[in-house]
Amino acid sequence: MPTTYDAIIIGGGHNGLVTACYLAREKWKVLVLERRYIVGGACVSEETFPGYKVSTAAYVNSLFRPEIVRDLNLKAYGFEAIERNPASFTPFLDGRYLMRGRDEKSDLAEIAKFSKRDAEAYPKYEAMLERVASIIEPTLTQIPPNVLRPGLGDLFTMGKLGRGMQKLGPAMAEAVEMLTGAARPILDRWFESEELKGTIATDAIIGAFMAPSMPGTAYVLFHHVMGETNGKKGVWAYMRGGMGGLTQSLARAAKDLGVDIRTEAEVTKILTKDGAATGVVLANGDEFHAKKVASGVDMHLTFEKFLDPNALPPEFREAVSRITYESASVKINVAIERLPSFTALPGHDVGPQHHGTVHFVPDQDFIERAYDDAKYGEPSRDPVVECCMPSSLDSTVAPDGKHLMSMFVQYAPYKPKSGPWTQEMRDRFADRCFDIIEQHAPGFKASVIDRQILTPLDIEEKFGLTGGNIFQGTMPFHNLYMFRPVPGYANYKTPIKNLFMCGSAAHPGGGVMGAPGWNAAREMLKS
Ligand SMILES: Cc1cc2nc3c(=O)[nH]c(=O)nc-3n(C[C@H](O)[C@H](O)[C@H](O)COP(=O)(O)OP(=O)(O)OC[C@H]3O[C@@H](n4cnc5c(N)ncnc54)[C@H](O)[C@@H]3O)c2cc1C
Repeated sequence: MPTTYDAIIIGGGHNGLVTACYLAREKWKVLVLERRYIVGGACVSEETFPGYKVSTAAYVNSLFRPEIVRDLNLKAYGFEAIERNPASFTPFLDGRYLMRGRDEKSDLAEIAKFSKRDAEAYPKYEAMLERVASIIEPTLTQIPPNVLRPGLGDLFTMGKLGRGMQKLGPAMAEAVEMLTGAARPILDRWFESEELKGTIATDAIIGAFMAPSMPGTAYVLFHHVMGETNGKKGVWAYMRGGMGGLTQSLARAAKDLGVDIRTEAEVTKILTKDGAATGVVLANGDEFHAKKVASGVDMHLTFEKFLDPNALPPEFREAVSRITYESASVKINVAIERLPSFTALPGHDVGPQHHGTVHFVPDQDFIERAYDDAKYGEPSRDPVVECCMPSSLDSTVAPDGKHLMSMFVQYAPYKPKSGPWTQEMRDRFADRCFDIIEQHAPGFKASVIDRQILTPLDIEEKFGLTGGNIFQGTMPFHNLYMFRPVPGYANYKTPIKNLFMCGSAAHPGGGVMGAPGWNAAREMLKS
């Protein structure tokens, strides 16, 4: 294998792979260096349990840019999104349930079971989200302006965004609230039914160590409605073969484009000469050189581990040190004997209740209380649990007759106050989550074959995500768009010449979107 390339990509996450593909399409010789035994980063399938394809971290897709699927012809390499219909099921202990995402008529009928007023308001709420999305979504694949040293082009971009906001008229304030405010007051204004609001609010806290009443959660909610599946807006999908189906299709495309991929290749140092990146050093001492280096890992690793921070401008160093990586998300993967039978809609055979995300949230206060425990440093006593059963729509992810459950749980802090995570603490937390499901689906616990518990600490260790933060850095307004990853460097460049950021640390942030990787490649090709 050669040791000199046009570009080296640090990290084989989906964004790093996207960057590699776009560079290789332009005939660049590219090397991807991945620390783990497998590429994909947090978007991966692994045989955690014999015969299963477990989406170890990310478990559903909607955000991945359709332009990338088309440009790289990913469907020919195995990219297959399986639409989830319905999208969600929320069972309640009183025997009722709320099912969303089958079609508009069914949504309204379901919501009307809890509030006729909310059913009337729902289409208007969705139209509001679409109005805001019409301004924000195009920015996902744009290079954000430089706010610190704006050139003519930056001023033009800012002006364009301002004009877009202006076009919203009085709805402009609503858009700004969506970008900066809290989800709860917005939901409280639109709706009266706690059953509906609790279900929607779970999207506002996913991966964020925040309660829905806290500013910043409205954007998290919004971030999760900006995708599509097979051309259908806002629809989430399972990927055939688990989320690794997506990244393996990228890896296959990359290899066909001539990209060299090395796994078990941990970068420990970025080499520089006269203020410019020239290559990297691996943990085993191997050195690789390139004209350009792109980092697909977070800012902490890139600038506080791989480089001597003293070689960086002080204001940049300070900005990097201000990025927060707090997280309270736990992933639990469960091999199960059979699908759960919910008291609210019984049946072990595959039914609509098993297709989408199952929420176990009675109301918004439940989420607030769960947050309170974690805010004071301990795992929630009553955590916010949601689960998906991809095997209900994709038989390739579990052995014949068996099923797979993916649980995403908030909140359990990275560093509990009572002491570091022990196996006993992990088990206690997972048992409590299982109890919550058992309350709604008696017999669930008896169906469990095996489980994998990943606390924020485990997520950090496994995927190299600092603090276990699933977005490579939190996503409050002051760390989005022209402020991401830090002000003045939102154009994927860094103070080190020829060193670029290409992962979700950069605009537009986390989620399996591919946009940071694609945007970064365009900037690299221009430079
Ligand atoms: C538990 C969990 C659940 C999630 N659920 C969803 C979901 O359902 N849907 C969704 O859209 N998003 C979800 N996300 C978020 C999404 O998975 C991430 O935002 C996305 O995968 C990040 O991709 P990336 O390419 O930017 O970075 P990463 O996936 O973080 O990739 C970075 C890569 O760099 C490698 N690396 C780290 N250090 C080094 C080193 N020193 N040398 C070489 N390589 C290194 C890592 O191993 C990794 O492969 C979830 C994330 C987590 C953790």
